[in-house]
Amino acid sequence: MSLSALPGLVLRLRPLGESDLMLDVFTASMGRITALAKGGKRSKQRFFGVLLDAHLLEMNLEPTKSPDLWRLASARVLSSHVGLRQDYRRLLAAGPVLELLLRATPVQAPQDGVLELALATLSRMEQGNSPVELASGLAIFLVRLLDLLGYGLNLEACLHCGRPLEQMKSMRLTLGGGLVCPSCPAGHREHQAPPGLIKFLSVARSLDARSLSRLGLPAGQSPQALLFLADFWREVVGHDLPSLGLALRSLKAPPPFTSAGRAAR
Ligand SMILES: [Zn+2]
Repeated sequence: MSLSALPGLVLRLRPLGESDLMLDVFTASMGRITALAKGGKRSKQRFFGVLLDAHLLEMNLEPTKSPDLWRLASARVLSSHVGLRQDYRRLLAAGPVLELLLRATPVQAPQDGVLELALATLSRMEQGNSPVELASGLAIFLVRLLDLLGYGLNLEACLHCGRPLEQMKSMRLTLGGGLVCPSCPAGHREHQAPPGLIKFLSVARSLDARSLSRLGLPAGQSPQALLFLADFWREVVGHDLPSLGLALRSLKAPPPFTSAGRAAR
């Protein structure tokens, strides 16, 4: 059965042979799918300017002999997310959004809320002009995607003894999946977790989606938040996520006088 006018976010493009392209696309109704664009590398008319990473397309798809592969008959661009291409930091911050949908979602299984979250995140990043703004958008995406895919963090109580958050004087975040109180061994590599960061993560996962664009990371806590979330996501996915490393490096605000300091040494 053919599918018409299906919206999908382009996650990855791979050349196939001389003239074709394979697309990995995330859709609301079918989750992640793979489609073959015959002549996608060459065709100037049918796909010109259409097949690019992070484009939201409206696709017409036809089945192939393989149940996991579709043929892209035609497509048009619903949103190009052009703002991402105007600043390399925005593009780098958006990389993990595409990579995680590619690596952490199952093939052809719908995932409630995931496409909406990705699109809201990309729109915010398109306008983002500071590392903190981009880091906030990325951190919210990372923590909410954990919930949507069933890997939610435990931020209410100690993972080991159940002591509630309100009774902890200090706390750590661990790769076991949430908070550990000062009396319990952290086990896995642990991360410092200032109370402001825990509050941010709790609000980020519970806030109404429309209000999220105003939520920002507490001052100075972007690196800690992103380092923990990146580590935890690597644990969940089971391998490295190169785009997260790149995004983290680019979102670290350069300290003042760095180059002068290095030159002096
Ligand atoms: Zn404990």
